[in-house]
Amino acid sequence: MSAPRLRPPTPPGRALVALVAIALGLALGACSGGQRAGGTASGSGSGGGTTSGAPASSDMPTTSGAPASSAAPSTSATTRQPARYVFPVQPISSCNVRYGHFHHDYPATDIFSKKGCRFVAPTDGVVTEVSRTDRWDPATDLGAVRGGRSVAMLGDDGVRYYGSHLLRVDDGVGPGTRVRAGQLLGLIDNSGDARFTATHLHFGISWPTRDGVWWVRRGMIYPWPYLDSWRAGGSRSPAAAVQAALAEAGRRVPPCTSGC
Ligand SMILES: [Zn+2]
Repeated sequence: MSAPRLRPPTPPGRALVALVAIALGLALGACSGGQRAGGTASGSGSGGGTTSGAPASSDMPTTSGAPASSAAPSTSATTRQPARYVFPVQPISSCNVRYGHFHHDYPATDIFSKKGCRFVAPTDGVVTEVSRTDRWDPATDLGAVRGGRSVAMLGDDGVRYYGSHLLRVDDGVGPGTRVRAGQLLGLIDNSGDARFTATHLHFGISWPTRDGVWWVRRGMIYPWPYLDSWRAGGSRSPAAAVQAALAEAGRRVPPCTSGC
């Protein structure tokens, strides 16, 4: 949840600065809490976003656990509008949505759902890649087409979101399409290697890369902590956790190490 973190006792001289920092954190809303669970939830062992040395250009402040003296730089973030997030499968109430905390081989979340439910943009952003044709063949099982029909988008929060196994991609959606949180991207089905599984949306969160880097696009951190928030009407951002995972990977296009 988004309750303010407990802080160690603060020397009196710093108390005022600390209070200002706390107030700023509250003013920014719940989304700044993403770095804690985002890092620890990942099976990849990223040790938490607060240690990331990544540039703070696109994410919410990561200074909440830092000494109060560093609170000043975070004030620049107060001018940014906090991102709005929407659960990516809609309508939640009638789609029998369910998902776990596990994913085979790499971090992602399979959101099981009724066939034909809507995959919507989880936040404002721009569509980057679309696959309208299911080219998956079980005989070859090529990683690049396992998703079947799919949509990837880059959120204004700097995070890439990817949903696959679609029945079809919405006609109005293609590379470069500007989308708003909650806008229809496609309908959920069993395309790609979901042909023999229960109907689900494969949902991946990653940092952006050049097109075609499917082993990053499919997911680099676990989405479920953010899905939990969005489903409950919250707006927890994965931006800091994604930056931490990128810092840990060391490069935007690391080699494929599983299911390649
Ligand atoms: Zn999956």
